[in-house]
Amino acid sequence: MSRIEKKLLHYTGRAIADYNMIQNGDRVLVCVSGGKDSFTMLRLLHLLRMRSNKQFDLFALTLDQAQPGWDDTELKGWLDRYGYAHEVLHRDTYSVVIDKIPDGKTYCSLCSRLRRGHIYRYAKDHGFNKVALGHHRDDLIESLLMSILYSGEIRSMPPKLLTNDKHHIVIRPLAYCQEADIIAYAGEQAFPIIPCNLCGSQKNMTRARVKELIATLAQDNPKVPSNMLNAIGNVRQSQLMDENLWNYKDLEKELVPYQKPGVETRQAPEKQSKLSAIGVKSEAI
Ligand code: SF4
Repeated sequence: MSRIEKKLLHYTGRAIADYNMIQNGDRVLVCVSGGKDSFTMLRLLHLLRMRSNKQFDLFALTLDQAQPGWDDTELKGWLDRYGYAHEVLHRDTYSVVIDKIPDGKTYCSLCSRLRRGHIYRYAKDHGFNKVALGHHRDDLIESLLMSILYSGEIRSMPPKLLTNDKHHIVIRPLAYCQEADIIAYAGEQAFPIIPCNLCGSQKNMTRARVKELIATLAQDNPKVPSNMLNAIGNVRQSQLMDENLWNYKDLEKELVPYQKPGVETRQAPEKQSKLSAIGVKSEAI
């Protein structure tokens, strides 16, 4: 086992344990887009399953979105070679996106929504209770910053998420893994990667700029990315200003009377009653 594989396995195993992502009897649909992240996720989940005392199923699903030039021959060959149960599902979302999105605009938002719909539908039809996505640490922190800067919300990609219809749980086992390690691992393993620019969508400039910003800050302080990840899991509700998370309006009810140091504490009730019985006001003592 290479050093990089060991490192990635360690972080993936830790994330799975921290968020209790996989349990006995789970049927996990592993979304393999053909990119480096999803290949890495599938390989690591497979290795972890071999060491685990839990019984769970892994099934790789690839969505062929009918992008021009799509060729999954090598991907299928790789999946067969390693003995992964898999299916390539053909759904033409490309035509829909081309039809709906005006020239010059990025397709990604609609494309991802359509893709998610097909994946969830497949999971429902085939009895998978978990859907594993290959987002990694850098995706999570970039999403956090993008959301703060461009949407006015503090949110990211959670490691474990109940879908809106409550039929599935989405898991992100690579949540702690660094993209740089995944790139190195993908090279080491020679995954047959399918290029992600077949759709011809413009590069997501906002994400690219946020990525660059984090990388620039990390040049001065390499802990910046890991600090950002820690921040997602270390929220101080009282130090923000969301009234749904913290009851600022009724804080007065939480006040505790201040006792000046050196001033005697109040008399016990029965003593007070004795004093008042002889006509001495307690304030005078
Ligand atoms: S890059 Fe292309 S395939 Fe990927 S999400 Fe964007 S539009 Fe879809």
